[in-house]
Amino acid sequence: MNDIFSDRISDVPRSFIREILKVTLDKSIISFAGGLPNRDLFPVEDLREATMHVFEHDAKDALQYSTTEGYLPLREYIAERYATRHNLKVDPSEVLITSGSQQGLDLLGKVCLNEGDDVIIEEPGYLGAIQTFSVYRSTFHPVPVMDEGVDVDILSDVLDSCNAKLFYTVPNFQNPSGITYSEENRIAVSRLLQDRQTLLIEDDPYGELRFMGSEKKSFRHFLPKNTVLLGSFSKIVVPSFRIGWIVAREEVMEKLVIAKQATDLHTNYFCQRIIHEYLRTHSIDDHIELIKSVYLKQRQAMVDAIKAHFPSDVHHTEPEGGMFLWVSLPVNVSSVNLFNRAIEEKVAFVPGNPFYVNRHETNTLRLSFSCVDEKTIEEGIERLAKVIREFV
Ligand code: PMP
Repeated sequence: MNDIFSDRISDVPRSFIREILKVTLDKSIISFAGGLPNRDLFPVEDLREATMHVFEHDAKDALQYSTTEGYLPLREYIAERYATRHNLKVDPSEVLITSGSQQGLDLLGKVCLNEGDDVIIEEPGYLGAIQTFSVYRSTFHPVPVMDEGVDVDILSDVLDSCNAKLFYTVPNFQNPSGITYSEENRIAVSRLLQDRQTLLIEDDPYGELRFMGSEKKSFRHFLPKNTVLLGSFSKIVVPSFRIGWIVAREEVMEKLVIAKQATDLHTNYFCQRIIHEYLRTHSIDDHIELIKSVYLKQRQAMVDAIKAHFPSDVHHTEPEGGMFLWVSLPVNVSSVNLFNRAIEEKVAFVPGNPFYVNRHETNTLRLSFSCVDEKTIEEGIERLAKVIREFV
């Protein structure tokens, strides 16, 4: 039976996180493992209204096949938001609506990567990107991310030592570490990439969820030609619609559209219409403020509890936005062993391993604060602190 499967798929492991989430279905476990947005904040009533409006006013069009590029008014809305929020000039023709930004990654892999091609990724890096580019059998070159961004010296060496087609980065409130690249770091990275062919993929699903600190400029400001932007409504509206987008220059866009056509013809048009109607008739900014006010409190509760209860030689990030925080234990502590013990104490997290391309043992772990209320966070961190103390 195995003979029917491609090497491409046989070599890609199942998502480790999906496996872990199964364990945490047990309701008595306090889970900091999931990477989900908080469902209590979904704008259910507003989306119901928008859906009814689409049905009542334009049902037949909304239920028909549509264009590969996506619903033009939605592309125009996205382009306009880049102008107002980021001071970035984006033409609607540069926007392709995708099935979540995850599909954006897949399309970029399809369009750019031959087997063995070099891809630079952050370490730790987004698991979903590692999985997608693995399907295209790329050769990964991990570059460490530090508190201020990617390690520029190592990036420079890696760029000189290979022929990277893609450099994948999540510069705002990174998944998994929660860190944000400083402006100086962005400028230094852009300088390194300036005269190269390498495409920088700026994946930014969390950028709008900034609770503190100052907004940072997109890489597109510094590297306009070679930056591809990925965006998504998953974390600011709802993930189930699977509506995201890619912004890319014309010649890249042409190829992406062909790849998208071959993949699924177009993104779910009905949901594009609903989300556009929702955006047209409601204030997304007010909704984002609501999400941020809740996440900020939970982030604060987690940081405070960590400071109060974790041993002092355990390092953690202090994210200015997003959904995640990253913990580094003393080097000799295995986060997988810690995980197995933590589950017995009814608290869960994601061990760092899947966020690295070639490490089996790590002393790091990801905690998500998006879906757990402040009191439960305090309780969960106390449980975790107790387990950590057994190991250090
Ligand atoms: N990129 C990053 C960094 C993510 O964390 C996620 C979701 N976990 C995605 C992309 C995919 O998001 P979606 O496909 O829902 O837009």
